[in-house]
Amino acid sequence: MEVADSKPQPLLATRTVENTKWLPRCHLRGTPAVRKCLRIFGSRQLAYPDDTHTPQSLRGGWTSSTAAHQLYMSDMPPSGISDRLSPEFSFPSLQTSPSLRDIMVPMDEAIRTRCCIAGGGPAGMMLALLLARTGVDVVVLEKHADFLRDFRGDTVHPSTLELMHELHILDAFLKLPHQEIRELSGLVEKETVAIGDFTHLPTHCKFVALMPQWDFLDFIKEQASRYPGFHLMMQAEVIDLIEENGCIAGVRAKTQSSPVEVRAPLTIGADGRHSIVRERAGLKVIDLGAPMDVLWMRMSRRPTDRGQTFGHIVAGKMLVLLNREDYWQCAFVIPKGKGEDVRQKGLESFREQIVSLEPFLRDRVTELRDWKQVSLLTVVVDRLEQWSRPGLLCIGDAAHAMSPIGGVGINLAIQDAVATANLLGDKLLRQDSFGSELQVVQRRRDFPTRATQRVQLMVQNKVIKHVLGSSKPLRIGWPLKLLRDFPILRRIPARVVGVGFRPEHVRTPDVHALQ
Ligand SMILES: Cc1cc2nc3c(=O)[nH]c(=O)nc-3n(C[C@H](O)[C@H](O)[C@H](O)COP(=O)(O)OP(=O)(O)OC[C@H]3O[C@@H](n4cnc5c(N)ncnc54)[C@H](O)[C@@H]3O)c2cc1C
Repeated sequence: MEVADSKPQPLLATRTVENTKWLPRCHLRGTPAVRKCLRIFGSRQLAYPDDTHTPQSLRGGWTSSTAAHQLYMSDMPPSGISDRLSPEFSFPSLQTSPSLRDIMVPMDEAIRTRCCIAGGGPAGMMLALLLARTGVDVVVLEKHADFLRDFRGDTVHPSTLELMHELHILDAFLKLPHQEIRELSGLVEKETVAIGDFTHLPTHCKFVALMPQWDFLDFIKEQASRYPGFHLMMQAEVIDLIEENGCIAGVRAKTQSSPVEVRAPLTIGADGRHSIVRERAGLKVIDLGAPMDVLWMRMSRRPTDRGQTFGHIVAGKMLVLLNREDYWQCAFVIPKGKGEDVRQKGLESFREQIVSLEPFLRDRVTELRDWKQVSLLTVVVDRLEQWSRPGLLCIGDAAHAMSPIGGVGINLAIQDAVATANLLGDKLLRQDSFGSELQVVQRRRDFPTRATQRVQLMVQNKVIKHVLGSSKPLRIGWPLKLLRDFPILRRIPARVVGVGFRPEHVRTPDVHALQ
C-alpha cells in the first residue's frame, strides 16, 4: 500500500512501524496536520475502539484479542513482490531493516493499492486473504468498528471448510468453538422427516459448522494479517466511487477523523445487499422477490432439549431452531412485510405463537422481554444484470442477495471471492487497468448463482408461501415422502446445500509459503 498524492508532495512525517505481528507502533512527529494524517492510517485511537460494542456475552465465549479491532497497516510489499509491481505502485523512499521500517507519509494523502475492497464481510475478507497470500497489495475498507453482527449468517458449509483445508487453515479454524450439523430434518405438523444427510459428501468435513460470523471474520482477518500486502481499515465507510475516463479508479471514504481516497486498478464492491458501490456505479439490480421475512431471536437451551437443529412447520407458521449448544438460534418465518403487524399484536401474542409450535419453549419464552431482542431480516433475493464495469467488480451479496433458505449466503459470497482471486489474482500483479475482462468472474459465477436462486425461489414459492397462507393442517408432499422413505436420496439436498453448484477450489499460490 502506498500513501501518496497525485502531485509530488514534500515528505512531512516519518512514521516508524515495528513490524511485529503487524501491530503498528506509531511515533507521531511534526505538526497537528501530520498527526491528523497519521491518525487516519495508524493510530491506536482507531486501533482500539470502544469494546463495549462487542460484549463478551455475545461472543460465544471465544475471546478475540483486542488486536481484532485494530486498523491493520503494513507499509511495503513483501520482499520480492515490489519488483513485480509497476513503478507507480512501488513504495516511496523507505529505510528498512528486518523488523523496523520507516515510511515517509505525505500530508494530502491518497492511498494507492492494487485492489481496493469496499466491505469486510465474508466476500471481502476472503478475497483480501487470497490476494494478499498471492502477493497482491490490497486495502479493505469496513464501515464498522468490528465484525459484530448478531444473526448475520453463522453457517460455514462443507464447501467453505474444504477451501480452508486447501488453504491449510482448517485445523486452526476447527479449534474455535463451533457446533456441527450432520443432518437436516423437519417436523411437518407432528411427523419428523429427515431431509439432508451431509455424512456422505466428498469433502473433508461432512458437516455444516455453526460459528458466529464475527468469530469467522476475526479468524480470516488473523490469517490475512500474516501477509504484508493485507491492510484493513475499520470505521472507513465508502461513500462514493472515483471515476476517471469512464473507468472506476477507486473509492472515497469517510473515517472518524477525515475523508480519504483509496485508488486502485481494481475496485471490488463487497459491501453487501445494500451496496453503495453498486448503486454509485449505476449497476442494474434484478429483484426476484420473496414471500417472507424472518424474525431472529435466541432462547436458552437446556441439556435435556433435543440435540438436532430442525425446522417445524404447521399451517400458517414456520419456526427453525438451530442448536447453538447453550442457546437456540430461532428463526420465525412471517409473510412478507408483516413484521410491524406482529409487533403491533404485542410480545405476549408473539411468545404464544412460538409456544404453540414448540411447547417445550414455554418455560423460557419469557426470556423475550423486549422487541430489541428480536431482529427482523427483510428477505431479499436479487442479482445484478452486470457484475462489473471497467475498473469495478461486485461480488457476494452486492452482486446477488440470497434467500436465507439453505443458509448459503456466506458460502456463495466466499465462492465468488475464490473465483475472483483465481481469475484475476495473477493479473492484479501485472495489469494497471481492467476493462471487459472483469466479466470473466460473472461468467464463472453466474450459473451457480442462478441455479441456487432458482432452487430457493422454488422452495419459497411452492413451500413457504403455501405454508404461510394455509389454514388447514399440512400434509407431507411426495418429495418429502421420497426423502423419508429412501435415505440415499437425502444426499441430494445435502449436496446442493453443502457443496452447491460448480464449487470453486483455491488455485492461487501462497507466495510467502506461510501455510
Ligand atoms: C439476519 C441475517 C441472517 C442470515 N443468515 C444466514 C445464514 O444463516 N447463513 C448464510 O450463509 N447466510 C446468511 N445470511 C446472509 C449472509 O449474511 C450474507 O449472504 C453474507 O454475509 C454475504 O457476505 P458479503 O461479504 O457479500 O456481504 P456482507 O456480509 O453483507 O458484508 C458486507 C460488509 O460490508 C460492510 N459495508 C457495507 N457498506 C459499506 C460501506 N459503504 N463502506 C464500507 N463497508 C461497508 C458491512 O458492514 C459488512 O461488513 C443472513 C443474512 C442476514 C441479514
